Formats: sequence, C-alpha cells, structure tokens
Amino acid sequence: QAKQHGRQVTRYFDPVIEAQINQHGQIERALALALSADQLRLYYQPIVDMERKVLGYEALLRWSHPELGMVGPDLFIAVAEQSGLIVPMGEWVIAMACQQLVAFQKCPVLAEQTIAVNLSARQLAQADLVDNIKRMLQSSGAPANRLKLEITESMLLTDIDKTREKLQELTRLGIRFSLDDFGTGYSSLSYLKKLPLSQLKIDQSFVRELLTDPVDAAIVKTILQLAKSLGLSVIAEGVELEGQRKVLADMGCREFQGYLFGKPNPLE
Ligand code: C2E
Ligand code: MG
Ligand code: MG
Ligand code: MG
Repeated sequence: QAKQHGRQVTRYFDPVIEAQINQHGQIERALALALSADQLRLYYQPIVDMERKVLGYEALLRWSHPELGMVGPDLFIAVAEQSGLIVPMGEWVIAMACQQLVAFQKCPVLAEQTIAVNLSARQLAQADLVDNIKRMLQSSGAPANRLKLEITESMLLTDIDKTREKLQELTRLGIRFSLDDFGTGYSSLSYLKKLPLSQLKIDQSFVRELLTDPVDAAIVKTILQLAKSLGLSVIAEGVELEGQRKVLADMGCREFQGYLFGKPNPLE
C-alpha cells in the first residue's frame, strides 16, 4: 500500500507516531464540526483590583464535546492552530465578546468592565484581521475601548513591522493590547519598545512558587519595575493564595487574575 502512494508521501510505520497522527486527524475533523455544530463555549475569568473589584474578564475558549464533555484549550488549540481552524474559531470568540460587551452596556455596574480575548499567531498573521475586527465592532456596536486583545511573545517572531502596523491601527480604534505569559517566550525586550502595548501579564509559572522561590520573586519584582518605568500596567496570572496576592501587591502589582478570585465560568 505504501508503494501506491509513490515517493512524495511519507509513510509512518511507527505505531506510536501513527496513533498520534490519527488522533490529530480525529480531533481536527471533530473540531471543524464543533464550529458549525455550535459546540464552542466561552468561559469568563474575572480580573480584579486591590479591593477585589472586578475590572473585567478574560474570555477562555471551551469545547462542549458530545462525548468528552467540556474540553479545555490545551487539547485543541494546537490542532486548531496547525489546521488553520483557529482563524474562524478566533473570529467567533471576538464576535461573542463583542456581543457580551454590548449586553454589559445595559447595566451600569458592568458597563465599565472589559473583556480580553486571546489572539492566535495565525489570526495575527491574517491580512484582513484589522478589517474583520472593525466590521465586528461596527455590526455589534460594541465599545472598542472595552475590548482587550492578548498576544504572546512567541507569536511575534515573524514580521514585527507588519504586526506593529496592525496593532497601531487597532489601537487607534480604542482597543488595548496585553502581552500574555510575559517572561516565558523569547522575551525580546525590543517588542516592548516597538509595539503599542498597554499591559503585561506575568505568567502563572512565576506566581506559582513566588512565596518559596527567591528567583521567581526576583523575576516578578523586575517585571513590575520594568512595567512601571515603561508606563505599562501589570496583571499577575494564576494567583491562588492570599499570600501570593499580598506579596504581589507589596511589589506594586495592582491587577490580579486567578482561582483565588474566580475560576473561568460561563458568564451567567
Ligand atoms: P492564557 O491566555 O494564559 O489563560 C490563562 C490560563 O490560566 C487559563 O487556562 C486559565 O483557566 C488558567 N488559570 C487562571 N487562573 C489560574 C489559577 O489560579 N491557577 C491555575 N492553575 N490556572 C489558572 P485555559 O482556560 O485552560 O487556557 C489555556 C490557554 O489556552 C490560554 O492561556 C490561552 O493561551 C489559550 N486560549 C484560551 N482561549 C483561547 C482563545 O479563544 N483563542 C486562543 N488563540 N487561545 C486561547
Ligand atoms: Mg490570555
Ligand atoms: Mg497567560
Ligand atoms: Mg497560557
């Protein structure tokens, strides 16, 4: 059978690799269906200030799978990214966030709150990203200055000039940008100089052992000082303990996200 496929096709006979490829293919097919079969959900996790007042939410994608139940992004984002499905999925996320922001406007307490959406590398590379977001803002009537977009360092490696242009254009609309998982990627500090960012998110890996590991404490302190000098705000991710919140606050952190304040949940 391998012969039939000719030379251009690589065949794997390693059962482990073959199983992985089959599984990948299965997830990909099911995921394509998920989008059309209304199986995607957005969970929202609060971001709070020093008084635990909710400033906004991060929207996090879930897949309500008919057999597996609620599936987290770790299982499908990579597959969606490789197959390109992340582009229509990501658009769906932004459209939902816009809808939600419009609903927020009807309630005085919620009207000020922001929604942050994670952008994928593939989305950021799309030539029509800016037009698509403009269109979604216009058709929904969502306030652009309540929408935040999270990008990561590792997705910025290609064509930084094009990326900057896109971010600048979106910034002019009122959208704000956060650099997610800060410190875990390639951390070229020149991104901080070149891109119109308003916020850094300290990765949860630095917060996890903040109370016991002096290296993590030093890194967190340095990120906070750097952000202060650059006029950027900071969110600490993965805050689970009051002790962590206290140390972060003492170091100058003013915004927090983590299980201590709330897990990601349906907005209701
Ligand atoms: P992220 O953007 O860094 O999101 C934060 C992750 O940390 C979420 O995982 C959240 O549930 C988890 N988290 C928050 N607080 C705590 C805590 O106190 N302790 C612990 N252990 N974890 C906490 P989640 O929802 O599984 O998402 C994982 C990643 O998947 C996200 O990381 C993001 O990179 C990606 N992702 C999620 N939704 C989307 C999406 O709509 N589009 C794209 N492109 N990526 C997404
Ligand atoms: Mg994020
Ligand atoms: Mg993060
Ligand atoms: Mg992450």
